[in-house]
Amino acid sequence: VFLGQIKRVDADVHAFLHVDAEGALAQAAAVDARLDAGEELGPLAGVPLALKDLFCQEGVPTTAGSQILTGWRPPYSATVTQRLLDAGIVILGKTNLDEFAMGSSTENSAFGATHNPWDLDRIPGGSGGGSSAALAAFEAPLAIGTDTGGSIRQPASVTGTVGVKPTYGGTSRYGVIAMASSLDQPGPCARTVLDAALLHAVIAGHDPMDSTSIDAPVPPVVDAARSGDVRGLRIGVVRELSGEGYAPGVEQRFGEAVALLAQAGAEIVEVSCPHFGYALGAYYLIMPSEVSSNLARYDAMRYGLRACDDGTRSAEEVMNLTRGEGFGDEVKRRVIIGTYALSSGYYDAYYGSAQKVRRLIASDFDAAFEQVDVLVSPSTPTTAFRLGERTADPLAMYASDLCTIPSNMAGNASGSFPCGLAPEDGLPVGFQVMAPPLADDRVYRVGAALE
Ligand code: GLN
Repeated sequence: VFLGQIKRVDADVHAFLHVDAEGALAQAAAVDARLDAGEELGPLAGVPLALKDLFCQEGVPTTAGSQILTGWRPPYSATVTQRLLDAGIVILGKTNLDEFAMGSSTENSAFGATHNPWDLDRIPGGSGGGSSAALAAFEAPLAIGTDTGGSIRQPASVTGTVGVKPTYGGTSRYGVIAMASSLDQPGPCARTVLDAALLHAVIAGHDPMDSTSIDAPVPPVVDAARSGDVRGLRIGVVRELSGEGYAPGVEQRFGEAVALLAQAGAEIVEVSCPHFGYALGAYYLIMPSEVSSNLARYDAMRYGLRACDDGTRSAEEVMNLTRGEGFGDEVKRRVIIGTYALSSGYYDAYYGSAQKVRRLIASDFDAAFEQVDVLVSPSTPTTAFRLGERTADPLAMYASDLCTIPSNMAGNASGSFPCGLAPEDGLPVGFQVMAPPLADDRVYRVGAALE
C-alpha cells in the first residue's frame, strides 16, 4: 500500500532519496517467517517506516543529502536502524534532508527540495523535511529523524505531524552521520502520539557503542501516550517564546491548546526563561564549531566522492578539490564559521562565551522545572513558508528554530504536536512540550491530551 502511494505522489512531494522496494518486501517476508516461527515481535512488527538518510543501513546508499557521499554504501547499520529491523519494522527507504542536516527547509539538500504535502509550493521544514512530508503524504505511517536544533520538531510542526526529540543520550547516535555531536539526537516521527511513543520505545535505551548514551530505564512513554491524563500537571508557558515575529494564527491556536489543557485539569502558569533569547546566537557558534571538526573526516580518501583523481595531483589538492565540489554552500559556511570560532585567539571570545550561554539556558530550565512539570510554547514562530522565501537570507532561515534550540542546548526532552490550522493560511501549527531530562513521558502525556 505504502509503496504504491510513494509511486503515486513522490514525484510531486520528493520525500524520498532512495526507495528500497525490494529490500522492504524482503524484510516484510522475513517478518512473516519470524512470526510463523513463533517469535514475539512487538506491536510495530510489519509496519513500514521512512528513515532519514542520515542513518547508516548496511548496504543501502546513504548520502546525508550531500554529493560528497555519492555512491557510499555503509558497511554496517546504526544502532537505531538495527533496533528497527530487530523489532520487525520494514524500512521503505531513505528520506530527503538538508545537507548533513543543516537547514530548516530541505532546500539545502544536494538532491533538490522536498515539498510540503499541504501546499506543494511550501517548505516541509528541515532538516528532516523528507521524513515528516512522507508522513503527511501518507507515504509511510512511521518515520525517523534527528534533531540538533529542531530538525524533528520544526518539520513535524509545519506538516501537522508528531515529532519528538528524546532526552540527549536517550537514543543512540552510533551510526548516525554526525552534525554537532553534543546536540544531535535521533527520535520518532509519526501521525499519532501513540505511534510515536511505540516507536520511541523501540529505538531508545542504553547503547554501549555511544559514549554519551544514558544507562537508565527508558521513560514510560507508551503508558503516558495511552493515558493523556494531565490533571494536576503544572504547565509553564514560556513568556519569551511569543510576541514579535510570531504569526497571529500560531499564537491563536497555541493559546487555544493551552486553554484546552487547563480545561483538562492542568494548572497553567507563565514562566520566564530570561536567557532563551540568546540561544540562537550561542547555537550558531557551538554547532558550527562541532560541524567543522566532525566534517574533517570527508578527506576524499575514506568515503564517496573523489574529485580530479587523475594521478597528477597531491593528496592535499585532491582533498581540497573534493571538499570544494562535494560540499554545498551552507555546509561550507558552517565549516568556515566553526573553524574561525575555534581558532586560537578567538576561542574564548566565541566558543567559550557560547558555552557559558549554554549553561545559563540550562539554568533557566532547572529553575523553571522547580516550579512546573513541563514548559510549552509554539514549536516554530510561523507556519510553513514558501520555497525560496528564505534561501537568500540565512538569518531568516535560522529563526525557524527559535523555540526548539533551547532544549537541544540543555539536552532535555521535547516534542511537537499538531494543534490545528492557522486561520490566515490554513496551514498546520505545532505545539511544543519540553520536559526535564529523562521525563520524556511527560511530553507524550501532554501530546496525548491535545490529540
Ligand atoms: N535548522 C537547524 C540548523 O540548521 C537545525 C538542524 C537540525 O536540527 N539538524 O542547524
